[in-house]
Amino acid sequence: MSTPSIKTVTAKVLVVGGGPGGYVAAIRAGQLGLDTVLVEADRLGGTCLIRGCIPSKALIHVAARFEAMERSVGGGHAGIALDTRPRLDLAAATRWKDGIVDRLSGGVAALLRKAKVRVLHGWAVFSDAKTCIVQGRDGPLTVKAEHVILATGSEPVPLPALPFGGPVLSSTEALSLDRLPRRLVVVGGGYIGLELGSAFARMGSAVTVVEAQPRILPLYDEALTDPVRRWLERSGVTVHLGARALGLEAEGEGHALAVRAADGGTIRLPADAVLSTVGRRPRLEGWGFETMGVDRKGAFVAVDDQCRTSMRDVWAIGDLVGEPMLAHKASAQGEMVAEIIAGHRRRFAPVAIPAVCFTEPEIVSVGLSPDEASAQGIDAIVDRFPFAANGRALTLDSGESGFVRLVARREDRRVIGIQAVGAHVSELSGEFALALEMGAELEDVAGTIHAHPTLGETFHEAALRLLGRSLHF
Ligand code: FAD
Ligand code: NAD
Repeated sequence: MSTPSIKTVTAKVLVVGGGPGGYVAAIRAGQLGLDTVLVEADRLGGTCLIRGCIPSKALIHVAARFEAMERSVGGGHAGIALDTRPRLDLAAATRWKDGIVDRLSGGVAALLRKAKVRVLHGWAVFSDAKTCIVQGRDGPLTVKAEHVILATGSEPVPLPALPFGGPVLSSTEALSLDRLPRRLVVVGGGYIGLELGSAFARMGSAVTVVEAQPRILPLYDEALTDPVRRWLERSGVTVHLGARALGLEAEGEGHALAVRAADGGTIRLPADAVLSTVGRRPRLEGWGFETMGVDRKGAFVAVDDQCRTSMRDVWAIGDLVGEPMLAHKASAQGEMVAEIIAGHRRRFAPVAIPAVCFTEPEIVSVGLSPDEASAQGIDAIVDRFPFAANGRALTLDSGESGFVRLVARREDRRVIGIQAVGAHVSELSGEFALALEMGAELEDVAGTIHAHPTLGETFHEAALRLLGRSLHF
């Protein structure tokens, strides 16, 4: 008996993965007239849209609004008083978040249709560098393409002593809870642990953070993380630094996380849920990567400055190719690769990739910090402007902590780094990145009229300070 033949689909460009890397690559390739197929096993939008950036920011927004209402109970705050405490319905908040995700994922599907990209729903498994089988709803399909763009993204790393499941949550489960854990222990005080841990604390969970390093958010310098540390302290979040999770133990009806503390002793932290966020790793398993003859660089796929892999016409982008594992980097690489395939001359050489941490307060960093500048032997001048002296920050009730910090080269006053910490500073990241990409000098920033009253005035004032002509401080 002969086996039924599998239908074959051919394309100029095959994109594997519909996250911010893959779907942007596919849209751009389609716009440029390249016959393009995108394969996605889950929903369009990837980690970022379905279980990452967007859902987490929706939850953070809910948490901030809830906390602000809580502050108004009784005596009130800023003239608003509530007679009864607000009630949080986490299941309803999760449905609201899901509505946003559905709308955006549908939007991605519409954009792909508009760009004439053929979308195949199913898991791709490669048998060689240019051929894969997609197990779709209507049976298997073979897809062959001239160019393959790998954008399979990343997944959370479990700790061996704390596998995901039951009360041990990854960020994915934490973003879809319908009941608030009364006691939440967060393992890993990095991006996800502190963004989500702070949100749960604001919603009313008793949160404890266990971080292996001597400081929270070790990616940022202490001046930037200190306002976050102080907020955690004020909000009753306990932070154990230099501490490691040993494993979950039964305790009465519930659980307790055993932790090796910084002093070498063991502590037990009672928990209804444990959120484990100790990093993410590229998704390289289960789709035939090993058959493709593509080199790796450590845990990641090795690429050059055009995102070419070691195999001709196989490209890789996004979380798969390394740090920073950020959505906007993935999208920028995807757009570039599509344009190179279409014949454009492009290279991935950004002056800076902005990083934003959506904690309370928020942190932004673009370009070099003062320490990084000095480690590179650059003679830099550095100054800050505090939000306490900015009218808009005060009217937003967020002037008590936070600042913008500017780093410039002494010899030519070229701006080489901008950092900020404070409420809503994420919205300044575009202006900061633009200044660096355009090669702005302090005079350019100082000579740009900034609207009043806005948080952006702090950037202007920081430049004036470095030029020795501060007006408002
Ligand atoms: P992904 O978004 O991971 O997409 C990969 C896609 O490929 C997935 O949809 C997957 O289903 C699909 N896939 C994999 N293998 C196959 C296969 N064999 N066949 C078919 N489909 C396959 N970044 C930010 O910049 N800002 C933020 O605020 C932010 N917040 C985050 C919050 C959380 C909780 C998390 C977890 C991440 C966050 N990130 C944030 C990181 C961001 O989500 C990633 O950097 C980004 O999604 C990477 O995009 P990507 O396209 O490389 O991969
Ligand atoms: P992360 O690297 O930001 O933080 C992990 C933390 O866990 C680190 O501080 C690390 O020291 C700590 N850690 C590691 N092993 C530990 C152990 N055994 N015990 C205790 N602590 C331990 O990783 P993440 O928070 O999982 O986020 C993954 C990635 O997702 C980030 O690197 C980032 O690229 C992306 N992300 C970005 C944003 C954003 O842009 N706002 C938000 C969320 C996630």
